[in-house]
Amino acid sequence: MKKFKRIETKLIHAGEPEPRILGAVSLPIFQTAMFEYAGEESYHDIRYIRLNNSPNHLALHQKLAALENAEAALVAASGMAVISTALLTVLSAGDHLLAQDCLYGGTHDLLTKDFVSFGLEFDFINGDDPDSWRSKLRPNTKAIYVEAMSNPTLQVTDLKAASAFAKEHRLVSMIDNTFASPINFRPAEWGFDVSLHSATKYLNGHSDIVGGACIGRADLIEKITHKLNHLGGSMDPHAAFLLYRGMKTLALRVRYQNESALKIARFLEAHPAIEQVNYPGLESNPQYARARELFDGFSGMLSFEAKGGVDAAERFMQRARLPIVAPSLGGVETLLTRPATTSHSGMSIEDRRRLGITDSLIRVSVGIEATEDIIEDFDQALKK
Ligand code: PLP
Repeated sequence: MKKFKRIETKLIHAGEPEPRILGAVSLPIFQTAMFEYAGEESYHDIRYIRLNNSPNHLALHQKLAALENAEAALVAASGMAVISTALLTVLSAGDHLLAQDCLYGGTHDLLTKDFVSFGLEFDFINGDDPDSWRSKLRPNTKAIYVEAMSNPTLQVTDLKAASAFAKEHRLVSMIDNTFASPINFRPAEWGFDVSLHSATKYLNGHSDIVGGACIGRADLIEKITHKLNHLGGSMDPHAAFLLYRGMKTLALRVRYQNESALKIARFLEAHPAIEQVNYPGLESNPQYARARELFDGFSGMLSFEAKGGVDAAERFMQRARLPIVAPSLGGVETLLTRPATTSHSGMSIEDRRRLGITDSLIRVSVGIEATEDIIEDFDQALKK
């Protein structure tokens, strides 16, 4: 298998079949549930879509591992399929997890609503305060789970401390890297064992599939693969084909989105109708120095509050003409959502307040439209 040095080249060439299949420049879709028996001895090696091993899956696994300079990768039916499967691989009944307190709503709900019935325990930790983590450790703690940039407040956990803490206490370190994408952060380079993605977002980038990926240590990825084979959350070949195609432009999209989001964050920060902007690329952000050290870019995600509470937020969302009001993120189109009513609606109001997710907080997923068009549109939407 050829090796490539830089991420832009890996996006195009890593994982490509050698030789090309009948010379096809674009990897074709293998829309077949199974493949002819070729002497496989293990159940997990039988070639069958649910076992995630069609040529479309295998090409994705190689490309994804190459992107994050990790040993191996696996795709799955959705971000939640891969997150739940990875957690259920690393944890068995009676085990305990340390998880960052400000998580994507779906992951938060999985821990708070489903973990008990699986016999799993967890404690939330403040990602900004590593000194407080030790007191939450228990003899049965097996893993630590964080997000690269938290959803929706864009907080940056002390990721260096998280990976060092895991090593010191022999925990599996897991990180949801969806918001950063491999362009801005490559967890394996910082010592993380497993990086998880909702491939629905930046990796695919075109808002037309759901998918998930995990990338990391080969021994863990193999175990997660076997668990996924049993739980059944495999990726459909058509989604795999679209993801593979979408990923080729990841570097172009994300770098543009990084730049655009920074300009929009600066515009909002200076606007008199704005109360607060959450974006780790702003010099005024308390976690700016940490974000600069960790990330190659600050992402295309930001959130903000307009003065005037929920009414002002609703007015802004109705008046903005360019963005689409929809959940999800990471696509080519700019999206707005109010997390209290969408991604984080499963959380109690008290938990949301504690984490800074006010009812009026608006999350922006910056697309690849002209930055000035978005700024002009936001400006008119903010006028009294
Ligand atoms: N992780 C993060 C940070 C997310 O924002 C999401 C979805 O919004 C997920 C995981 C779950 O991904 P999916 O919707 O593909 O299951």
